[in-house]
Amino acid sequence: MIKVSLISLGCAKNLVDSEIMVGHLHKAGMQVTPDAETADVVIVNTCSFIDSSKEESIGHILDVHEKRGLRKRRQGQKLIVAGCMSQRFSKDLPGSIPEVDAFIGLDQITQVAPIIEQIYARERGETDKPASFVTPRSTYIPDYDTPRFRLTPSHFAYVKIAEGCNHPCTFCIIPQIRGHHRSRTVQSVVAEVRQLVAEGVKEVNLISQDTTFFGMDTWEERPNPRTPVDSSRGTALTSLLRELNAIEGDFWIRILYTHPAHWSDELIKTIAECQKVARYVDMPLQHISDRMLSVMQRETSGDYIRDLVKRIRAGIPGIALRTTFIVGFPGETPEDVDELCDFVREARFERLGVFRYSQEDGTRAAKMESQVPPKEKERRWHKVMALQKEIAASVSKASVGKTLRVLVDEAGIARGEADAPDIDGRVYVPKNLPVGEFASVAISGHQDYDLLALPKGERPAFFKVARQAQ
Ligand code: SF4
Repeated sequence: MIKVSLISLGCAKNLVDSEIMVGHLHKAGMQVTPDAETADVVIVNTCSFIDSSKEESIGHILDVHEKRGLRKRRQGQKLIVAGCMSQRFSKDLPGSIPEVDAFIGLDQITQVAPIIEQIYARERGETDKPASFVTPRSTYIPDYDTPRFRLTPSHFAYVKIAEGCNHPCTFCIIPQIRGHHRSRTVQSVVAEVRQLVAEGVKEVNLISQDTTFFGMDTWEERPNPRTPVDSSRGTALTSLLRELNAIEGDFWIRILYTHPAHWSDELIKTIAECQKVARYVDMPLQHISDRMLSVMQRETSGDYIRDLVKRIRAGIPGIALRTTFIVGFPGETPEDVDELCDFVREARFERLGVFRYSQEDGTRAAKMESQVPPKEKERRWHKVMALQKEIAASVSKASVGKTLRVLVDEAGIARGEADAPDIDGRVYVPKNLPVGEFASVAISGHQDYDLLALPKGERPAFFKVARQAQ
C-alpha cells in the first residue's frame, strides 16, 4: 500500500484543498501518514500569496528533498508540489526545481491518486507523461459529496462556498491563480453543513475569496466577468445564511473574507436575525484614503466604508469587526497613513491585522512608480499595529466581568464568537471544561489580545502564543 504524507501551507482555502486530496487518497486505498519520514510520497501543498509565503513553500520543498538524500530509507521517496505556487508558476517551476517528481495544479486535487500511480508507472518506463499536470485556468469547485478528510479538530470545519475572484485589486495575484469566481449552489452548501452538524461540528466557517459575492456570479451571463453586478437581486449569501440558520442543532456559522463592496442592508438584517450566525464579521478593507482605494481598485471609497461600518454596528448589536489593511502601497504618503490611523481610532475594530505591501510579479501594482522603501513600510506597519494594540487592550478590558459563551478548542483554551480559529485571540478557561463543547464562562481578566476566565490563582494553559499578523 502506498503511504502518502501531506504538508499543508497557507490559508484555510488551501487547507480545504488538502482535505480533498487526503479524502481522494483514502478513497483510492492509499495510506495517509503525518510522518514524512516513512512515507513513499510527500505532497507539499504550497501558498504563493506574497513573497514570504513563496519562500516558506520553497523551504519546505527543499527540506523534503534534502532529507530524501540524507536518509537511505527515503531515497526512493516521491515529491509532489501542489497548490497556489504550483499553479502560479506552472511554466517556470519544472525547470527551476528539477528535484520535484510532479507538479499538480488546483484543478488536479481530485486526481491526486491516479497522478501518483502515473509517477510510478513513468519510473517503470510505462508512460512518458510530463512531470507537470497543471492546467492553465482553474475552474474546479467542490461539491457536498466530494470525498474529503477533515484536518481541523472535530468540532470545527471550513466550508468553501465559492472559489476564485472577479475583483480587480491591483496588488493581488489571486484571480490569476484561482480563476474567476464560481459559487456552489445553496443546496450543495446546505447538504454539506447538515452533514457536518450531524457529525458533531459546532462551528462552520464559510470561506471563499469573496464570500459576499456568493451566488451573484450565477445571476446572469455577463460577457465580461469583471462587469459589476447588481447585488440587490437573486440568490445570494442572505438566502444561504437563512437556510443554514434553519438547520437543527447548536452551532455557530462564521462568515470569513467578505468584500465591503457587496454588503447590503439585507445582509446586515439577515445576520442580525439569524441567531446561529456569529456576531463576527471579517471584512478586509485594505485602506481608507480615497487615493489609495482608487489606485488599489478596491471599488469602494472612504465615505462608503465609514458609512458601512456604522450601518453594520447599528444593525447587528454586539458585532465584532475584523479587518486587514495594507501599508506601504506604491504612492502611499505619510498623510494617507495618518488618515488610516484616524480611521482605526474612530472605528475601533475588535480585531485588526496589517500587511506590509508586497510587490508581486504579474500584478499591476508591481509596475507602479513610487514604491515605498522596505524600512518605511516597516515603520508604517509598527505605527498602525502599536495603535491597534492599545485599542485591542481596551476592547479586552471591556469584556472583564461579563459572561461569555465560548467553544473549547483544547484543554484550558477556548474561543468566543469574536475569535475565528487560528487568526484571532483566545479565552483561557479552566482545564476541566470538555473539549469541543460550548461553555459559559465569567471573564476575570485579559492579557493583550486574549481573555482570562480562570478561578483565582489558576494560571492559563499557555501564557505566550505566537500570533499571525493577519
Ligand atoms: S478581493 Fe481583491 S484582494 Fe481579495 S482575492 Fe479578490 S482580487 Fe485579491
